[in-house]
Amino acid sequence: MLGIGIDIGGTNTKLVVVNRAGKLIAQERFRTEAAKGVSDLVRRLAAAVAVFQRDYGRQLVSIGIGAAGDVDPQRGLLRFSPNLGWRSVRIAGPLEKLTGLPCVMENDANMAAWGAYELELGRKSGDILTLTLGTGIGSGLVLDGKLYHGANGSAGEAGHLKIEPGGRRCNCGARGCLEAYCGSYAIMARAGELIKDEAAFVRKFAAPGHEKFNTICLTNAAVAGHRAARQVWAETGHYLGMGLAGLILVLNPGCVVLTGGVSKARRWFLPAMEKVMGSQQIVTPFAKVKIKVSDNVDLGSHGAALFGLERTLK
Ligand SMILES: [Zn+2]
Repeated sequence: MLGIGIDIGGTNTKLVVVNRAGKLIAQERFRTEAAKGVSDLVRRLAAAVAVFQRDYGRQLVSIGIGAAGDVDPQRGLLRFSPNLGWRSVRIAGPLEKLTGLPCVMENDANMAAWGAYELELGRKSGDILTLTLGTGIGSGLVLDGKLYHGANGSAGEAGHLKIEPGGRRCNCGARGCLEAYCGSYAIMARAGELIKDEAAFVRKFAAPGHEKFNTICLTNAAVAGHRAARQVWAETGHYLGMGLAGLILVLNPGCVVLTGGVSKARRWFLPAMEKVMGSQQIVTPFAKVKIKVSDNVDLGSHGAALFGLERTLK
C-alpha cells in the first residue's frame, strides 16, 4: 500500500509517493504560485495525483497534506496562511472529490513532526517536540504516540513564544517572539547590523552561483572564523535555548528534533543553546531529553504521506 504526501509551501509544492516504511517511490514538484488562487493549485495537484494513479493504481490509498499556515484539520480548512496569502480556503475536500482518495490536511510543521516520529525515531520515542527552523519557526508535537492538536487545532505555535518583552518585531506583528530572533530573516537582520559591508561579505562567503546574504553564507563565514558571524550564531543558539527550555519544562519530551534550513548551522548554535538548557534549576526534564538534528529535507512531505496512511488504515 502506498500513500501520497503533499507539502504546500510559500514557494514550492512537493508531492511524494511512499510506502508504509517511508521509502520514496515517486515524486513531483512545482511552483506553488499561490497568487493564481486555490482552485488553480487544487487542479494542478489533482493532475499530478492522476499521473501517480495511472502508474500505481489501487496501491494508492490516501493523501496527506501539510500546508504552511493555520489549519483546521477537522474541516480540511486552511484558516490563514501569511506565506500563501490565503484565508479560509478548502484544499482537502476538493482534492478528495477530484481524486477519489481520502485526504487529510494538517499544518506543515505537524507533518514534519509526524515524519520525525516515524522516520527519525522509528516510533520508539512517544513524546517528541519537533521544531522547523526556516524563514519562520514552526513546531509540532507527537505526545504519547499521537499528533497533538490542542483544543482547536493550533497547538505548537512555538515560533511566537515571547522570549524578549518589547523586543524585535516579528512577522506576525508582535514583538519579542522566538521567530523574531531565530527565523532566518531575523538571523540575517541581526547579522546585517554587525556586518557593515554586506556585498564584500557575500563575495567572500557565499557559495558560487548563490550570491545571497543568507544563513548559508553566514554559516560559511562562521566556518572561516568570522567573528561577527560566530557571534550571531551563538546569539541564535541562546534565544533558541530560551524558547526550547520553556517548552521542555512544560512538555518533558523524550526527544527534540530540529529540522529545516537553519538547522544546518547546528555546529554554530547548538553549544549556546545547550548552555541555556544546562543552566536550568529544574533539572529533571533536561536530564532526559535528547536533541536530534534531522538532515532529511523531506520530513514534511514524507510525514504527510505516512500520516495519511496512518489515518486511513487505522
Ligand atoms: Zn510572532
